[in-house]
Amino acid sequence: MKKGIDKILAKRSLQKEDIIVLLSTFSSDERFKVFAKANQVKKKYVGKKVALRGLIEYSNVCRKNCLYCGIRSENKDVHRYTIEKKDVLDASKYALDSGFGSIVLQSGELCTEKHSGIIGEMLEGIKSLSDDKIGITLSCGEQKKEVYQDWFDKGAHRYLLRIESSKRELFERIHPNNKSHSYDERIRCLRDLKSIGYQLGTGVMIGLPGQTIEDLADDLLFFKVIEVDMVGMGPYLEHSKTPMYNEKDNLLPLNQRFSLSLLMIAVLRIIMKDINIAASTALQAIDPCGREHGLFAGANVIMPNITPLKYREEYILYNNKPGVNETADNYLNRLEKNIEGIGEEILYGEWGDSKHFKPKNPHHLR
Ligand code: SAH
Ligand code: SF4
Repeated sequence: MKKGIDKILAKRSLQKEDIIVLLSTFSSDERFKVFAKANQVKKKYVGKKVALRGLIEYSNVCRKNCLYCGIRSENKDVHRYTIEKKDVLDASKYALDSGFGSIVLQSGELCTEKHSGIIGEMLEGIKSLSDDKIGITLSCGEQKKEVYQDWFDKGAHRYLLRIESSKRELFERIHPNNKSHSYDERIRCLRDLKSIGYQLGTGVMIGLPGQTIEDLADDLLFFKVIEVDMVGMGPYLEHSKTPMYNEKDNLLPLNQRFSLSLLMIAVLRIIMKDINIAASTALQAIDPCGREHGLFAGANVIMPNITPLKYREEYILYNNKPGVNETADNYLNRLEKNIEGIGEEILYGEWGDSKHFKPKNPHHLR
């Protein structure tokens, strides 16, 4: 067994060197120790309830061209859709009736006034149909501060915007080199979101070409420095209609990307004890029980897809995206059993806010 794992896990706080050792634990016995420690920390600081967010992928129209993403604007094979407001409201009602507590509205990035107006209307509609009982997370990319403020005022209270990689050079390598894909702009957005009073979520992809264990350790430290409230991160998975597909032979094998992603979750839980951590759908793309493994390794949030089935085939960010045909009811039944199997339970009917978050604005207090 690698020297020092037990010693590191017993420490009060971890340095970058410790994080690197933990992320490099390649034997399954060692990994189990790291996961078990993270699980213990999770039980102590956030409890054993798993919060649900119903994910609505409401539009795949995107102005951006991220080199890794299947719905990038230059992929002309994608049939573009935007779900009607009425259907988004119906999906939200379904979430409410199924006891989800919260939804996530996710889309490609569009920055027109019309688009931000439609999101604003949806927010107001969802708040009113649920009598403010549903919490709303947005994940609609980079926007002006005024737009973020308007959406916040209309009821969104959490925002997910992944930094993708906190290392500037790697960020620039996986995005086109132009003003619409700027590292500084992404940081500006994260700052604005936080200053407005959102619960701030970010994350990275794991196993990107050229990414090192040290880069990943820096990503975890970055989350600490910017004081995030929530993190969603998962393996990078190639999509055949993207420029980064050319690098498919230079990637870690899938099983290693998977275990590295679980280790990232576990170490993050150990260093940021009370934040919300999502078990990403990309984990499930590698292993059908990937998200349950994520829970065991320290995640406490799951985002079942409640997008109306007819749109799912068009929101394919990476190959083998799971759940394209699965209804949320089916998925929930299975999930409930699996979650019981690892000694946890689903948190029904509550927003499931990050315990780390200290609200500035009382109207978002629950
Ligand atoms: N347009 C918004 C939200 C949709 S994309 C945004 O970019 O923030 C949501 C996330 O999907 C991205 O942040 C990215 O991390 C992830 N993603 C995209 N392509 C991926 C791929 N090939 N493998 C794994 N995750 C991917
Ligand atoms: Fe658009 Fe988001 Fe995909 Fe980038 S990652 S192309 S912003 S949907």
